[in-house]
Amino acid sequence: MTVDLRPERAEPAHAEGAAAPRPVGPSATPGATDERRVKLAIRDLNVYYGAFRALRDITLDVHANAVTAIIGPSGSGKSTLLRSINRMTDLVPSARATGEVMLDGANVLDEQVDVVEVRRRVGMVFQRPNPFPKSIFDNVAYGPRLYGVRGKTLDEVVERALRASALWNDVRDKLRASGLALSGGQQQRLCIARAIAVEPEVVLMDEPASALDPRATLLIEELMSDLKTEYTIVIVTHNMQQAARVADETAFLNMGDDRAGYLVEVGVTSQIFTNPRNRLTEDYVSGRFG
Ligand code: ADP
Repeated sequence: MTVDLRPERAEPAHAEGAAAPRPVGPSATPGATDERRVKLAIRDLNVYYGAFRALRDITLDVHANAVTAIIGPSGSGKSTLLRSINRMTDLVPSARATGEVMLDGANVLDEQVDVVEVRRRVGMVFQRPNPFPKSIFDNVAYGPRLYGVRGKTLDEVVERALRASALWNDVRDKLRASGLALSGGQQQRLCIARAIAVEPEVVLMDEPASALDPRATLLIEELMSDLKTEYTIVIVTHNMQQAARVADETAFLNMGDDRAGYLVEVGVTSQIFTNPRNRLTEDYVSGRFG
């Protein structure tokens, strides 16, 4: 038996303790999501690699249609946290997770969940752009084709994804050229197009701009602000200026004495950077360690 992870459209699930949705204003389009709606409710998440605990008791709400940044020193479990959200940790044989990662009210860690469906709903963009050695078109068409999209509809899906990732104008005349022939920044936007072509709900980005030059970085950051109107974005970044620029909310992880990563605090980004509640956060964001 597989657990159905599809959201209940008629009655959106709200995590326990989540803020009640704000009324949808007159300008809102039908079906628009409330920006404070909890999309991911992470509860008491522990992740182990063999006997080593990499994450300890992480409890965190990720809001819909917002960018949430995960910051913290190297080894504090940022990538592990991100990868737990779409079960990428399953690819590490020694990895084991306990607790809950509730996506619209269904636990993606449930063993009976369809992992392929989780990864369609929760896409991922990696640190190094990793286009397939295929044409630009085929990179973006890859996922939709797996779901049976063909012909004119496929052309439309590819165009829409390339437009949404701010790449269409660069590549519209060379869709059959290799994705690998693009610049690093364009390759990363191609990977974002590939991720969003299957219409995920959440996009995870693991230091998506760390291999890019400043101009390409800026484009990716602008793109995140555009994309959050449709998607929920979680980004891991080492770059605190980047977190301050792009993230609506920021979660600060630190490493305990046992080297397990734990959540020190999470809040609205401006509060985390200017008025943190915890001394450790203040020390970290002001560059005193990490
Ligand atoms: P960060 O992204 O904050 O640098 P990671 O999530 O990559 O942290 O790593 C957290 C901890 O888990 C580190 O101690 C790291 O060595 C360990 N770790 C990460 N991946 C693996 C793995 N595949 N096998 C064993 N240990 C791992």
